[in-house]
Amino acid sequence: MRKPFVAGNWKMNTDSRSSVELAQGVAKGASGLAGEKVTVAVIPPFVYLQSVVNAVRSTGVAVGAQDLYIESKGAFTGEISPAMLKDVGCNYVLCGHSERRHVLGESDEFVGKKVTAAIGGGLLPILCVGELLSERDGGQTEAVVARNLKTGLAGLGTDKMSAVTIAYEPVWAIGTGRTATPQQAQEVHEFIRGLMADMFGKKLAEETRILYGGSANAGNAKELMSQKDVDGLLVGGASLKVDDFVKMIQASA
Ligand code: PEP
Repeated sequence: MRKPFVAGNWKMNTDSRSSVELAQGVAKGASGLAGEKVTVAVIPPFVYLQSVVNAVRSTGVAVGAQDLYIESKGAFTGEISPAMLKDVGCNYVLCGHSERRHVLGESDEFVGKKVTAAIGGGLLPILCVGELLSERDGGQTEAVVARNLKTGLAGLGTDKMSAVTIAYEPVWAIGTGRTATPQQAQEVHEFIRGLMADMFGKKLAEETRILYGGSANAGNAKELMSQKDVDGLLVGGASLKVDDFVKMIQASA
């Protein structure tokens, strides 16, 4: 039985005060669910990680980072290592979010190195995969998702793979208000689970949580979550509003 997982990616939003208030609001609203019935993570900007970790300590809400670097230390100006994230109390880390792939130019190979570095540093990576609108229209959705997954998970054995969560995030649905229909999400999630079974065996495929992301909100969370292979939600915009995010956690429970 896969425990539902709802994660809020705050992207480059909030400030020192509102990040703590948002984290406290989520912890209060999700009390009794977070960490018990639902895995809940908030994913603030790097500079607010420590204060958000402090704000949600002992509440059942976990904290994730939006990115990491592949080396453990050294002359990499501006970058953040897995050990640094672990040191401030982070458990999760996004790898290959579409904005990093398509705005910052990260390749599948680089994302794969990030997944490996995250696991090596004791973090739980959330590997984001998904196609552009032109790729969907060109009938390439499965090919793109398969490439993202195969390269993103290259070199991982079954033991390491159990640390990974997958997030299917069609790029055309992120921040656009245009959600994939529950059926569109289910089709790709089923495809991903099948691919996981080919790569890592059926048992691991059944245990792996596959989140949907792309304009998920309080109004569509329940229907998305009712799909057989949708195990959770990676939420951008709607995670910045306590009430909406808490409703999504409740809908997923
Ligand atoms: C995201 O940033 O991962 C995301 C899904 O954003 P939004 O919910 O705003 O589409």
